[in-house]
Amino acid sequence: MVGTHSSQHVPPPAPAGTAGPTVAVVGSGPSGCYVAQFLAKTWPDSEITVFESLPAPYGLIRYGVAADHQGTKGVVRQFDRLFTRGGIRFAGNVTVGRDIGFARLAASFDVVVLATGLPGDRELDVPRDPRARVVGAGALLRALNGFPHHGLPRTPLGSRVLVVGIGNVALDVLRLLSKDSEAFTGSDIDDELLGQLRPARPAVLDVVARSDASGAKCDAAMLRELIALDGVDIGAPGLGDQDRGPVADLLRTCAVPAREEPGRTRVTFHFGLVPESVTTRDGRTVLTARRRDGGEPVEFVTDSVVTAIGFTHGAAQDDGCPGPDWADDHVYRVGWLSRGPRGTIAENRKHAQRVVRSIVDDFEAGRITAGRPGFAGVADLLACRVVGFRDWQRIEAAEERSARPGRCRRKITDLDRMLALATGAH
Ligand SMILES: Cc1cc2nc3c(=O)[nH]c(=O)nc-3n(C[C@H](O)[C@H](O)[C@H](O)COP(=O)(O)OP(=O)(O)OC[C@H]3O[C@@H](n4cnc5c(N)ncnc54)[C@H](O)[C@@H]3O)c2cc1C
Repeated sequence: MVGTHSSQHVPPPAPAGTAGPTVAVVGSGPSGCYVAQFLAKTWPDSEITVFESLPAPYGLIRYGVAADHQGTKGVVRQFDRLFTRGGIRFAGNVTVGRDIGFARLAASFDVVVLATGLPGDRELDVPRDPRARVVGAGALLRALNGFPHHGLPRTPLGSRVLVVGIGNVALDVLRLLSKDSEAFTGSDIDDELLGQLRPARPAVLDVVARSDASGAKCDAAMLRELIALDGVDIGAPGLGDQDRGPVADLLRTCAVPAREEPGRTRVTFHFGLVPESVTTRDGRTVLTARRRDGGEPVEFVTDSVVTAIGFTHGAAQDDGCPGPDWADDHVYRVGWLSRGPRGTIAENRKHAQRVVRSIVDDFEAGRITAGRPGFAGVADLLACRVVGFRDWQRIEAAEERSARPGRCRRKITDLDRMLALATGAH
């Protein structure tokens, strides 16, 4: 989904002989990396540090973008060059808010750019039985992407799974659940988690979408990829002649009547349904939805519900999550944190460019000034914990060395092991 990037407008360089301000970028996802890239071009003499909670860089490129979309993940190669040749410091394993207080960071850097993304799944806002099996798509895709966290889903989703939402993230979930294990060649999928979550392909995948097919937010290319999978049958009951657009047209051409055949997965798209409640019955999870145009409620009896309806800040009490008090004249926000959970990697690039433009304008107009110490102002707090870029590359090399046959790497999901590899103490 990432297009090739032409060289668009880049802000003018700082005046000759003037060192740029010291810059802290918080978060090494695409928006943080693009900001660092544009600022480094603009102010080659400035000192730029990218702080990252994890020992591994790149945010959702590594842990969100589906494991079988390695072409999209390939954008990290240009970011690698920033850290290996571009003079930008990577300070991994540092959570701003916890390991360095925001006030200390803001006092130490002339420019602070918050690029922390939106890590939490938006929850279905309906009455819900706590025993119901409901999993967020973000958590599910992180698990399949080898995210180092114990709280991610691990138990089988079952043979009937219902996905709420019809954006590209929903399509990632549908594709990853319907694909044969052998079809993940070249990916870095977490095979262990795939085996645990999906010991066999689900027989039934129902998709419940609030919009009609004309308003579906997914890209037709993503839908095409799902339709093309071996062993997948598509159903789209209720699709009317009035439904227009690429999604409706595609579904109309590929929908087939249900057939009973073991080993196949039937994906059925239900449009115009608004979820009303999630309950349990006889150990199963039941989602009840009402039609937008009235009529009787519709009930789906499933093994699991996967919600793919957007992202939020995550836990309200998380002190690593920027609140309104993380603000000042020299503090900027970029990417999903600033714009909400919409848009591709390429859109973050455009946004990073705009943010860098306003940073440079503010500097040139004297609204922000240089003079704070930069990394030296926080180094005493971080001495033992920073995972630098070379340290990260040791982790990466170990992941590539231990790749299973047909996989490009095997992600290390244990933080202690990542840190041991980073410090050479394994
Ligand atoms: C499941 C999924 C699949 C996607 N697939 C695609 C795709 O195929 N193609 C595409 O173009 N886009 C895709 N996207 C969208 C793309 O991933 C986002 O547009 C992009 O990652 C947002 O970038 P960001 O830098 O704002 O946030 P993120 O990528 O979330 O990066 C935020 C970073 O900040 C770090 N951080 C958070 N808090 C702190 C803190 N306090 N201190 C230090 N570091 C911190 C996080 O660890 C993380 O590394 C997908 C998104 C999801 C969720």
